[in-house]
Amino acid sequence: MSDGQLPLAHRTSDLIGSVIDSSTSVLARQTHDIVRFAMGAPSDDLIPVDLLDEYSARTVPGKYSYGRSEGEPALVEQIVKLQAEHGITTAEERITVTTGGMQGLDLAFKLFVDPGDLVIVEGPTYTNGNATALSYGADVLEAPLDADGLVVDALPALVAKAGRAPKAIYTIPNFQNPSGVTQSLRRREQLLELAARWGSIIVDDDPYGLLRFNDNTIPGYSQIDPGNPQVFSVRTFSKILAPGLRIGWVDSDPRLQQLLINAKQAMDTCTSIPAQLTVTDFLADGHLQPHLERVLGLYRERKDAMRAALHRAFGDAVHATDPDGGFFLWVTFTDSQVDTQALFETALAAGVAYIPGTAFSVNGNFGESLRLCFATSTPERIDEGVARLKRAIDTAETTK
Ligand code: PMP
Repeated sequence: MSDGQLPLAHRTSDLIGSVIDSSTSVLARQTHDIVRFAMGAPSDDLIPVDLLDEYSARTVPGKYSYGRSEGEPALVEQIVKLQAEHGITTAEERITVTTGGMQGLDLAFKLFVDPGDLVIVEGPTYTNGNATALSYGADVLEAPLDADGLVVDALPALVAKAGRAPKAIYTIPNFQNPSGVTQSLRRREQLLELAARWGSIIVDDDPYGLLRFNDNTIPGYSQIDPGNPQVFSVRTFSKILAPGLRIGWVDSDPRLQQLLINAKQAMDTCTSIPAQLTVTDFLADGHLQPHLERVLGLYRERKDAMRAALHRAFGDAVHATDPDGGFFLWVTFTDSQVDTQALFETALAAGVAYIPGTAFSVNGNFGESLRLCFATSTPERIDEGVARLKRAIDTAETTK
């Protein structure tokens, strides 16, 4: 300390932060109008604010006290019921309420990853998933992704090259963040087989699965192989209801629950009780399904508007994915030398925000791609945002 240095722990060098989360602060500092394609969040008008306000104003004994670390019993009961409505059999002893999906990811890597352990992730993948694995010292290996999700066939060669089996395989099977692609049934089955062979945990992160625009639901890992102890499922109400509630859950082998409780007790004791009770009442009164039916049509309209606007502005110079649900389009510039990281400041000045592709890779890949969230803006604002993106690119090209 004498030389003015702070006695930081070694692990701080593995705390890399999140470009996505930081965009909230970057945007809050701007004083001009910005079309927000950056954060993966529903727009305020698609959050059932009045109902949530009504439920959160209810008086309930113990509401402002501590609660059980594993979650409020009434919420756990509602989560089991919600899962059953979507064809997933689970049980109360498998559910642990978490402070958002992020805490579920933190718990997954905390329980299974020692420093130096191999963790396979999708390339590109959710920035914060990488950040969380790295915070426990994981050796993160990026595996390819295509229109059918994680290219599971590529894993054996990657693992052979790494010379050791992965402790965990981190996957986002539905409407992947950032690419929007969905893993095929065949690949889900193959992944379960490989995980069994290697003794790996599948960290099954699925915040978007209920946001499907058609009826072609693909069975999840826990439906293909019920009770498989190697599947650790991370879920959240952030995308289907409201992210500011910070309520999620983990569905995992019951033998893990005491460890999850112990980990939470060393972290936050319990998830916010007022927020848990608000979600419980919203679910118990049957509001989730009608809410989803209302927003899904609008999200689909927004996705179509964004794809059409991109096509009008850029034609074949960009490739955009066409997801069947979720929040994101992954846009790749095919025939130009656009560097989406370098473009960010120009785009922000032009009044549009997105997340550059490199944020989704530990290796700094995907510099020619970017992630756009279509969920936050109306079709009119989407048109405006894409027009601003086009202007930013034109400006950048003329000033090169
Ligand atoms: N996983 C993925 C794939 C996500 O997109 C997100 C939210 N952006 C999370 C986990 C974290 O969810 P929460 O906001 O509930 O912590």
